[in-house]
Amino acid sequence: MNRLWVRLTLAFLIVTLVGVAVVALIADWSANNTFRQYLARQDALTQSGALDALAAFYQQRGTWDGVETMLVNANLVLPAGRGRGQASQGRGRPPLVLADASGRVVFDERGTMVGTTISPEDRAGALQVVSDGKTVGYLLFGSQGRGALAPGEQAFLDQLRVGFIVAGLIASTLGVLLGLVISRTVAAPLAQVAQAARGFAARDWHARASVRGAEEIAEVAREFNTMADELQRAETLRRNLMADIAHELRTPLTVLQGNLSAMLDEVYPLDRAEIATLYDETRVLARLVNDLRELSLAESGQLPLNVQAVEVAALAQTAVANFQAAADLQNVRVTCDASDALLARADPDRLAQVFRNLLSNALRHTPSGGAIRVRCSVFDGQPEFVTVSVQDTGDGIAPEDLPRVFDRFYRGDKSRARASGGTGLGLAIAKSLIEAMGGKIGVESERGKGSRFWFTVPTT
Ligand code: ADP
Repeated sequence: MNRLWVRLTLAFLIVTLVGVAVVALIADWSANNTFRQYLARQDALTQSGALDALAAFYQQRGTWDGVETMLVNANLVLPAGRGRGQASQGRGRPPLVLADASGRVVFDERGTMVGTTISPEDRAGALQVVSDGKTVGYLLFGSQGRGALAPGEQAFLDQLRVGFIVAGLIASTLGVLLGLVISRTVAAPLAQVAQAARGFAARDWHARASVRGAEEIAEVAREFNTMADELQRAETLRRNLMADIAHELRTPLTVLQGNLSAMLDEVYPLDRAEIATLYDETRVLARLVNDLRELSLAESGQLPLNVQAVEVAALAQTAVANFQAAADLQNVRVTCDASDALLARADPDRLAQVFRNLLSNALRHTPSGGAIRVRCSVFDGQPEFVTVSVQDTGDGIAPEDLPRVFDRFYRGDKSRARASGGTGLGLAIAKSLIEAMGGKIGVESERGKGSRFWFTVPTT
């Protein structure tokens, strides 16, 4: 009962039946109306004095012979030959019939019933012509016992009733069939979506709904598939992350373990230089753990942000100044174009961290003699954001790597990045921090020519 196809089929059936019933009721009502009109005419006939005239006629003659002339003269019926019968319909009433005291028809406006005897019901419903306290005749309209209608009309009405029953049956059958077809076409694609959802819940990550059926249902299927794609991507990321974390932790731990064991076995001397190497490894581990914590907090939206009005230009200049010494050592020129006072709504510490990540990357990838340029501006077409870019003349990023540089643990050149202390999390952290502050981050780069990392933060 609660199934869609049952409901739709029932709805179709009910609508069809109600439709047929309403038409049948209207037909019945109009038949009743005819009957009421008949009664009204009977009243009119009584009041017109026709009964008295007929009684007087009978009293005078003692017979009904010649009554037709009297009825024509009294203007109660039209003369024969002037379309009588149809004419009576033209007057808006069924034909007039007069029977004698025994019920034998002595006058019939249509001329078809003369000589026949009217039925007891007709007699019971007829107007009585009374003369000297005796009923001498019966005046009635058409075939009175069967209501106000002439036999043709009655037959037509009967046919109509049968027609309604047959039409009702055909329409109900069609209604049910149509309801079944339509509800199946609606329900089947929905059932398919449900099946895909069940499959997905049972961890079949490839379960997808086929997009078909009515536009609304196709849209549900499409949206389900989009959601499934996203969930599948998240699941893949989660799995990769676990594998990546395990992998990243294993390398410094293996180094630590190996060196410590070598020291214990007195293979390596227990001197300051060796201990310093081990200490460096613990720092890599600590940074990795910190980065991971930061990233997971930022991605889950739990990183506490101290958002305030920040002078982006001043912040950029400070960040550049902090890198000056390292850049000089590498013979790389670092400049900052940010003279305007640019106020943004951001967390200054997090913003400084983004600058640090981008600048350290730029420095790491720019060879001696190169240049790094930081620019802060508000573009005319985008007045609601401060745009910052960090451009270098370094080795650039291969086009196939570009979409992945913001992924966690992604390193362009694995061995070199690890050797230089990169965790592969710097850009992922920068991205989640910028997004947490309501901005966007991106990169344009060309192999051999350098890279331009940019980000936006909302203006105040
Ligand atoms: P890490 O620097 O610790 O490896 P990041 O997330 O900061 O991790 O960077 C990811 C990768 O993006 C780097 O390994 C490098 O291949 C590439 N990359 C980042 N910045 C630059 C840059 N300025 N020039 C060239 N490649 C870059």
